[in-house]
Amino acid sequence: MGSTLAEKVWADHLVRKGDDGAPDLLYIDLMLMHEVTSPQAFEGLRLAGRKPRHVDQLIATEDHNTPTVDIDRPNPDETSATQLTTLERNCEEFGVRLHPLGDADQGIVHAFAPILGLTQPGMTIVCGDSHTSTHGAFGALAFGIGTSEVEHVMATQTLSLKPFKTMAVNVEGELPEGVTAKDIILAIIAKIGTGGGQGHVIEYRGEAIRKLSMDARMTICNMSIEAGARAGMIAPDEVTFEYLKGRPHAPEGEMWDKAVEYWKTLKTDDDAVFDKEVTLNAADLQPFVTWGTNPGQGAPITATVPVPEQIADETARNAAASALKYMGLEPGTPIKDIPVDTVFIGSCTNGRIEDLREAAAIMKGHHKAESIHRVLVVPASSRVRLQAEKEGLDRIFKDFGAEWRNAGCSMCLGMNPDKLVPGERCISTSNRNFEGRQGKGGRTHLASPAVAAATAIRGTISCPADL
Ligand code: SF4
Repeated sequence: MGSTLAEKVWADHLVRKGDDGAPDLLYIDLMLMHEVTSPQAFEGLRLAGRKPRHVDQLIATEDHNTPTVDIDRPNPDETSATQLTTLERNCEEFGVRLHPLGDADQGIVHAFAPILGLTQPGMTIVCGDSHTSTHGAFGALAFGIGTSEVEHVMATQTLSLKPFKTMAVNVEGELPEGVTAKDIILAIIAKIGTGGGQGHVIEYRGEAIRKLSMDARMTICNMSIEAGARAGMIAPDEVTFEYLKGRPHAPEGEMWDKAVEYWKTLKTDDDAVFDKEVTLNAADLQPFVTWGTNPGQGAPITATVPVPEQIADETARNAAASALKYMGLEPGTPIKDIPVDTVFIGSCTNGRIEDLREAAAIMKGHHKAESIHRVLVVPASSRVRLQAEKEGLDRIFKDFGAEWRNAGCSMCLGMNPDKLVPGERCISTSNRNFEGRQGKGGRTHLASPAVAAATAIRGTISCPADL
């Protein structure tokens, strides 16, 4: 029997196979770090009197706690300021490369690394952050780890792990016009549920996936964790190689040729068997929006908010009723009738250059609806910001009435000054819509940049076809 892509990468990093059901010891190629989950790991190393085993395979950035305006002024939040200065001190003491706020390569941990070419096919990549699955878009085995594991990787560059199960999600056929990567992944999560991928590495396959750009593939893999999966992967191909070629950390010359030769072997064998397999027909997909308080509570934009009494399963019925109460929505309301206060375009899911181009193309020549309080456009990394400004996208956003911000996690989570206030309703291109995720009492509808932009124009949840 052949091997899946995930099994091949695992096998290539095996330091020691565990006996009698014991965990394997896996070599880790790259660990990404940020201010929130690293302090305890550094402290543990300090207390043990140890140094990082391979400091050149660790790299840090500042993202969760950073403000996106007035970045030259002292951080207004004391806890955030402490976390950022602690990271800076730790990186200096242990010799870890850091891209701090204000640096041209600073940005969300899952955005800056691919841009630098640090994320490459066949690598094992970890970070104390669940959306590390993003890097699987390159055919890397990338997953989030806990704080004690961060310390373990710093000290040994290895991790003790039991092999993950494998799952194939096939998206066959061609996507209809106006349907994007975000719609695909929201539809997948709605189909398999927030626990559908639990314990598995999902490999996304099929014609619709193969046709996606790297930015779009990252959007898909990013949200694997929202389906409960440990990681998401897409086999590397010419699209991947084209994206990587010439990036600062990509191999060069003879090393590039050797790397591509190896990367081409990183695909699931025809006779490999997945533990689980699900297939979607791309032609059936539409723009997708969440109505509830987990990423699986979503529906096509033309649907109505569910009526809990009509849901047969008791757990799902109760969950829907409680979500609708929090979201302040009447059962049966057409999704397109839902008015929105705030629009957030950004995050490690949809703050890349293609996302900003897509939103700008829709906003161009329009102005935000009067009923919309604010439109935040936040590039995922400083390089994305610079590129967008080079292309004049910032001007389009400002003319539209949007706020053009510096890079960071921003309103994806309520850990920095960009927050929703209680009761405020936001259409967001981020990945989580849990209660209070964007600020206490805030209500989040997840959607694509295209849907967010169209909503900003009309004031109610809309897609570009409605304009
Ligand atoms: S943008 Fe959101 S999901 Fe991504 S790393 Fe930041 S806080 Fe986490």
